[in-house]
Amino acid sequence: MIRITQLKLSAAHTKEELKDKILKLLRIDGQALLSYTIRKQSLDARKKPDLYYVYTVDVHVSDERSVKKRVRNNNISFRGPDPEYVLKSEGERPLAHRPVIIGTGPAGLFCGYELARLGYRPILLERGADVDARQEDVMRFWKDGKLDPHSNVQFGEGGAGTFSDGKLNTLVKDPEGRNARVLRVFAEHGAPEAILYENKPHVGTDVLTGIVKNMRHSIETMGGEVRFHSLVQDIRTAGEGLEKRIAGLAVEDTQTGEQYRLETEIAVFAIGHSARDTFEMLYRRGLSMEAKSFAVGVRIEHPQSMVDMVQYGNDHPDVLPPASYKLTAKASDGRGVYTFCMCPGGYVVNASSEEGRLAVNGMSYQDRGGQNANSAVIVTVSPEDYGAGGPLAGVEFQRKLEEAAFRAGEGKVPVQLFKDYREDRPSAGEGTVAPQIKGACCWTNVRSIFPTFLARDIEEGILAFERKLPGYSRDDSVVSAVESRTSSPVRLVRGADMESGLRGVYPCGEGAGYAGGITSAAMDGMKAAEAIAKLYRPFDKHD
Ligand code: FAD
Repeated sequence: MIRITQLKLSAAHTKEELKDKILKLLRIDGQALLSYTIRKQSLDARKKPDLYYVYTVDVHVSDERSVKKRVRNNNISFRGPDPEYVLKSEGERPLAHRPVIIGTGPAGLFCGYELARLGYRPILLERGADVDARQEDVMRFWKDGKLDPHSNVQFGEGGAGTFSDGKLNTLVKDPEGRNARVLRVFAEHGAPEAILYENKPHVGTDVLTGIVKNMRHSIETMGGEVRFHSLVQDIRTAGEGLEKRIAGLAVEDTQTGEQYRLETEIAVFAIGHSARDTFEMLYRRGLSMEAKSFAVGVRIEHPQSMVDMVQYGNDHPDVLPPASYKLTAKASDGRGVYTFCMCPGGYVVNASSEEGRLAVNGMSYQDRGGQNANSAVIVTVSPEDYGAGGPLAGVEFQRKLEEAAFRAGEGKVPVQLFKDYREDRPSAGEGTVAPQIKGACCWTNVRSIFPTFLARDIEEGILAFERKLPGYSRDDSVVSAVESRTSSPVRLVRGADMESGLRGVYPCGEGAGYAGGITSAAMDGMKAAEAIAKLYRPFDKHD
């Protein structure tokens, strides 16, 4: 196989031009080219408004030897195919019961998918509804404000990322090939093939909902089972000391109120960062956990055309996707302020999951066709900031902010013009930037939600971002709050074997504190599946 790197073409190039360039670089004619695969595509905007795509391409030709003899170019190498992710079941310990996975977010879904593929016949328990019913619940909430505490933007099939921008990039190092595997499985279940090579792959909420449904069908076809409206309320243990292990789960059907016990020796807790009641239950049951740093702040909206103009030098990028940005600054007290989960052409969403508390986040559709760009602007807070109330102190800090946001917005998403935020006075209405929000909003004083140090750091950050992205601190940009569910405020401690101190309990994904985003959570779910496959014999090989 031949790999070409740094293959550069103008942003408006055609497929034919890419093929021609490959032929030219390898000095072959069309007949000698058997196939090519794009491995990577990234945008080079350093010389705007002249924009280029830079490619890495793997090429198969009819006579590789002759190309090798003739072509000398540092960007062309001759190599074997990349190693593929491999997961085998090697374990011999028999299982008396099917393994159980709690949560069908990316971590639970991928753990379930891999285990089902290997014959473990996992049972997936999800407190929320299936994705179709969940969509109706969320739309109703955005329309009339009636929250279903079990089926909302955080809870239900697909987990927290289902109503998201669907960004699939991750910074997690990945020599084992899990990242590529996650993207490949997504593509096999309905994502566009382009996610396999784009530098910043994205699918959007409309595509994600289909993917999670298709993955559920695959899990079921491979012998797994997915139960919705199934809230794990408690755990049952057996043995003592180092021998203490999980023996079963107490499950409530949240529709009927019926409770039942599920026996199992393996429980993967892929519960996400918003399952505060489940964190509390696990803490009461002695699971080792610790408070960790996380970040809180606001979401800010600007016209997408402004962002396109700054990033591309052109506010009508016909051939380019709506532009994104990533910004960092240091506030005067030394804290980092940074943008997070930026959604080009997206919407701010009311992402609450508890009565009387309000949280926001960002979402987009695949076309990212909305008129505004939005992003979180957040500041890191650590256990020193939110007090010494034990491992769950961060949860209480989040709750206080969310209660303040709920009060400020009278139950609706509180919004404010940045000019008024700076002057610490309520806004009366919008300027030229119309808020694009899923859920009702209320013009108020967003600044009043935050303790003084956070309110100031957020303002300083937004002013500093102006230097990098002119227009960022414009008077009529719209801030909303509170962006409090950026990552888990808790870490569920686990060993190198992925197990917590309680044998058979595998904490994983974002809620356990080992991931931050859809792809990294999915990769962590795969790691849990690997750990289980290493120890236990697949369920379908039992007598
Ligand atoms: P989750 O996805 O949170 O899934 C946990 C699941 O467990 C939930 O479905 C929950 O209902 C279930 N559960 C919890 N407790 C129980 C219980 N006791 N019993 C049964 N079930 C239970 N990340 C990105 O990478 N890109 C983005 O563009 C992006 N945008 C986002 C937009 C929004 C609006 C939100 C809310 C998040 C976004 N994220 C994004 C973050 C991303 O969604 C999370 O990082 C990811 O979903 C974490 O995956 P997870 O499987 O660890 O947990």
